[in-house]
Amino acid sequence: MNPTDPCPCGSGHEFGACCGPYLDGSIEPPTALALMRSRYTANTLGREDYLQATWHPETRPAQPGVAPAVRWSGLRVLETRAGNPEDTTGMVEFIALYRVGSRPYRLHEISQFSRAGGRWYYRSGTAGAANKPPRQGG
Ligand SMILES: [Zn+2]
Repeated sequence: MNPTDPCPCGSGHEFGACCGPYLDGSIEPPTALALMRSRYTANTLGREDYLQATWHPETRPAQPGVAPAVRWSGLRVLETRAGNPEDTTGMVEFIALYRVGSRPYRLHEISQFSRAGGRWYYRSGTAGAANKPPRQGG
């Protein structure tokens, strides 16, 4: 990916001035949101190594599981809590859009992050409301 291309995370910035430096290891994402965006971008680029490296060792699976059939097509951040450089935990709620074949899907997730040794890590995610089946009745 060219550094002047628009960043896949949808920030509106160029890749080389957004997630690029995080993915190439030249700087650490300063906030949970920056880490979350860079992990989305890593997904779009199939960077399993980055997903693995930024997953907290306590919750990291053996295989991060980048699904090759999935084509990520957009990211919308709904809410963030804490996750700033002076915090030790953070939360980001987002909707990621993707396609499998020609079929569009959306992933609504509330992700938890924690900071250790000056680095932000992804810890865990729970499904947001948009993933749950509609409520029965009124
Ligand atoms: Zn970005």
